[in-house]
Amino acid sequence: MVDASDLVEFKRHLDGAHHIAITSHRSPDADAVGTSLALARFLSATGKEVTCLLPDAPDEALDWMPGVEDIVLFERDPGKAQDALHRADVLFALDYNGLNRLGPMADAARTATGTWLMVDHHMGPEDFPTARVHDARCSSTAELLWGVIAGLGGKDAVDATSASLLYAGMMTDTGSFRFSSVSSETHRVIADMMDRGLDHTAVHEAIFGEQPMDRMKLHAFAVVERMEVYPEFQTAFVHLTADDMARFHYRAGYTEGLVNKALGVAGVKVAVFAKESTDRVKMSFRSVGDFSVRDFAEQHFDGGGHHNAAGGASTESIGVVMARLRGLLPEIAAGIQATEAPKG
Ligand code: 5GP
Ligand code: MN
Repeated sequence: MVDASDLVEFKRHLDGAHHIAITSHRSPDADAVGTSLALARFLSATGKEVTCLLPDAPDEALDWMPGVEDIVLFERDPGKAQDALHRADVLFALDYNGLNRLGPMADAARTATGTWLMVDHHMGPEDFPTARVHDARCSSTAELLWGVIAGLGGKDAVDATSASLLYAGMMTDTGSFRFSSVSSETHRVIADMMDRGLDHTAVHEAIFGEQPMDRMKLHAFAVVERMEVYPEFQTAFVHLTADDMARFHYRAGYTEGLVNKALGVAGVKVAVFAKESTDRVKMSFRSVGDFSVRDFAEQHFDGGGHHNAAGGASTESIGVVMARLRGLLPEIAAGIQATEAPKG
């Protein structure tokens, strides 16, 4: 929920701003991109000059999002990104709360001189922003941003297009409204957006309706050849090497959802997906129940996120990372058991 007092400062800084930069995290998901574009639409309509910036390209499954082609990508156009960061009077940090989540764009962001405003729902926010709307219990940044826009008096500016951008973030961050983070407020926001013309079916169809054959094959390969299930530890791992991904003509977004396949194996409480890329191994952690993958990711892989969904990375080789994960199995199992022990 958005507290009206949080918005007083937002309003003050926005009133005096001419150039606004909207930033979100590396490997941007639907919550990151959808909120960036929806906020840009709202602020542009109030006469501001707005630039959306991302460290790298979003998944092709988000190509349908209106405005996505205008986002400045740091990896493609560092000069243009730097200019926008430095020219901005106000900079938004959406769907992330630590500047290291910007990866290669972090240094440029650190030298920006404008006022930072944050809207985020991850645990443990850094204190670089001057003002923030932060709620780690909220299921998505999109849900929070709806409250921000409404609180700034912009509810009527949310048309069917903006609603679809926000809905995409809400839908994907909640596993299609399945996770425990979903609240009655989540559904109230959606009800409100449906009254504004939201076509929810079109959003589901655009994101999950169909997929390239290569992606389907990559998932099948990963499940058959690269999944390790350890029933005695209630844990499953799945990993992909750079060669595996090249074999199936990997593109951004192809591995989305793979970690949930591991988590979906009967009896599995903790799942890890590890993916080799040029400069690092990126990991996704998921759990069901009380085991905190956020704490695990932070402790072992310099990561963070949410209680049941987190991420991290390592500069070790994929082989070393997988060996380290296997070595951590007893610790994971002990952690799961500790959370399941009867309390009191
Ligand atoms: P995913 O596995 O879908 O990439 O990320 C799961 C959650 O963890 C998301 O909320 C994401 O923002 C967060 N996350 C992913 N990678 C990292 C990371 O390296 N550091 C931190 N702090 N959070 C991450
Ligand atoms: Mn999010």
